Amino acid sequence: MQVLHTKKEVREFRQKCQTLGLVPTMGALHNGHKSLMQESLANNSHTLVSIFVNPTQFSPNEDFSTYPRNLQKDLEFCESIGVSAAFAPNIEEIYPLDSHTQSTSARDETTLNPPHTMGYILEGFSRPSHFAGVLQVVLKLLCLTSPTRAYFGKKDAQQVLLIQKMVRDFFLPIEIVPCEIVRDTDGLALSSRNVYLSKKERENALCIPKCINLIHSQIQNGVTNVGTLQAMAEQNLQEVKLEYARFYSHTLQPLQEVQKGESIFLIAARVGKTRLIDNLWC
Ligand code: AMP
Repeated sequence: MQVLHTKKEVREFRQKCQTLGLVPTMGALHNGHKSLMQESLANNSHTLVSIFVNPTQFSPNEDFSTYPRNLQKDLEFCESIGVSAAFAPNIEEIYPLDSHTQSTSARDETTLNPPHTMGYILEGFSRPSHFAGVLQVVLKLLCLTSPTRAYFGKKDAQQVLLIQKMVRDFFLPIEIVPCEIVRDTDGLALSSRNVYLSKKERENALCIPKCINLIHSQIQNGVTNVGTLQAMAEQNLQEVKLEYARFYSHTLQPLQEVQKGESIFLIAARVGKTRLIDNLWC
């Protein structure tokens, strides 16, 4: 496996790839990331995993400085899965120093505002600058690597929908592939942030996947009224500090009735200091 650090190395690597699958990550890799890599390996001649904790998607009060980082372990993980290359740039490689001011330009570059209808609800409501930062770094990575396909988890449902929209809006010739949510044996969706949870907090957090299962079975049994389902969810999420548990369409329009195959049930909640998200594509 090649380990790349610079844009120049990435461009040289790209020249050798017939088709390229890009898997953008922030590291602290787990089996959720692994499933994205495997999906890419199965469908492209080469797979590139980027490992970069992107500062512009964190608000000042969030966990950018403490976000789990272990590059050596991540590189071994990528190698064990058999990806062609890992791209682990430093901040200046992605956000170069401004030649005039000599300050990091991350907060003063050309940026992208997410669409109003999709970008400022749910995650974008409590984290209003988050998706601008996500789209900024993803567009940089897509432009730099010119992948054939790029792989994103359905776990971050709003994120993958916004990235698909950006790719459509800018006519980028790249296929965005949404990948299934991978869960731990106890049902909790895998996340790099799960390491923050104490044993007790983790037990409390399990009401989230349990609620997702309950909603899934209710829908299977023919319950489609969103008011009924949301009230049921709230009843079953009392061990966490619920931020939202709501149904939206795949274009993030609010729904009155679940439209099978076109709806998402999204949850965000705090458990202690940790903020968790999960969802059901239904
Ligand atoms: P992150 O490193 O958390 O930014 O995640 C990188 C990519 O992995 C994103 O596209 C995530 O949606 C995806 N991902 C994270 N956790 C999971 C999971 N449990 N199942 C599937 N994909 C995931």
